[in-house]
Amino acid sequence: MPFRALGLDARIYQAIQDAGYTEPTPIQAAAIPPILAGNDLIGIAQTGTGKTAAFTLPILDLLSKLVGQGPLRGIKCLILAPTRELVVQIKENVEAYAKHLPLRVTTIFGGVSERPQIQALRNGVDLVIATPGRLMDLMQQRHVNLNALEFLVLDEADRMLDMGFLPNIKRIVKALPVKRQTLMFSATLSKDIEALTHEFQRNPKVVQIGKRSNPADTVTQLVYEVPKHLKPSLLLHLLVDPSFNMVLVFSKMKHSADRVARYLEKYGVKTATLHSNRSQNQRLKALTDFKSGAVRVLVATDIAARGIDVDGISHVVNFDFPAQPEDYVHRIGRTGRAQAIGDALSFITSEDQGSLRALERFIGRGIVRKRADGFDYSASPPPPGPDDERERRPRQGQGGGRNQSRSNSAPRGFSGGGGGQNRRSSGPSRGR
Ligand code: AMP
Repeated sequence: MPFRALGLDARIYQAIQDAGYTEPTPIQAAAIPPILAGNDLIGIAQTGTGKTAAFTLPILDLLSKLVGQGPLRGIKCLILAPTRELVVQIKENVEAYAKHLPLRVTTIFGGVSERPQIQALRNGVDLVIATPGRLMDLMQQRHVNLNALEFLVLDEADRMLDMGFLPNIKRIVKALPVKRQTLMFSATLSKDIEALTHEFQRNPKVVQIGKRSNPADTVTQLVYEVPKHLKPSLLLHLLVDPSFNMVLVFSKMKHSADRVARYLEKYGVKTATLHSNRSQNQRLKALTDFKSGAVRVLVATDIAARGIDVDGISHVVNFDFPAQPEDYVHRIGRTGRAQAIGDALSFITSEDQGSLRALERFIGRGIVRKRADGFDYSASPPPPGPDDERERRPRQGQGGGRNQSRSNSAPRGFSGGGGGQNRRSSGPSRGR
């Protein structure tokens, strides 16, 4: 189906063409018509399916009609999302699709000064994208008037519930006009989400893309069974393969994310971290460096990486296996986005076997076990390195760029032998 068939405003259609999109993704084709017709909607879709445009494009179309009737008075659309990164990302999307429309967009999120956000609200704004906590703060200080609101979007609603935002969301929704259009997007349709739709929506249309909770079909999934102490050296070993050119690594804890990053840096792999102990500026810089290729590896925790939209991620590595199957699905949704083929690799220790079995039941299929060729599985623990400042080597030979590989000498857990060419076969082959 061509985009034109959706009957969107010509200025929005122009922006879609500018973005280089040729046809709607399945969630867009399914969700846009009922939203344009004024329905409430629940979209069950993971990040990477094009869900942001699925709600943004029709809302912009409806707003463009209001703009045609004279200046908008008051905030018309509120989009709530769980994290600052996701808020920023939605804003980038909205601005791209609305670039030919006279709409004012602003973001509201914590961790930065309130003042510019309050000023933007005072100047007048049509569309707000916010995290629930900071928005609630500003509402309590009477900086936000939502009396004229017509559209509410809850994006990644399941994660907002997981993060404990329900009380704030309820208070925010109470302050909104009852007559409004409410759209809710979630990766899964749980009992809690159903309860939320009963409370916030009226006869919502349900649009579900793909099998519920199933990872994107384009992602090749592999499991590497490895003793816990060899996980860092296995990661380094895999990174010798130059096809690992944009790698998102998930770690369970903030401090272990830092430790993995220091370890990789020590061996010449440019690495950034993304977790909640880092300042807002550090997090944005990490993302920018990862997107530009200035760093090859981004080590993140689940919450920090939630919903980040980075094109071209070649591999997702579950350095620590996620306790919840839902987290696995979210994590590997980072790769294989918009039809790219990506690999998702999981390191499994003896402690993770139960979680792996639970995951395989959840996604309804087994995941292929793989052994890394040329890797010494019997090695003793790596030398004290990353955490020992005295052991840190000068960071020479760390050129940026995608294809940079290890340049310093390997840890004991790394079995060398024969250079990159030889070891390249240890990486998973693509497109399996
Ligand atoms: P999302 O699921 O909203 O995070 O979107 C995933 C990625 O798909 C983003 O990088 C979008 O820019 C991209 N995208 C969205 N819609 C389309 C489309 N119709 N054609 C191609 N790419 C798209």
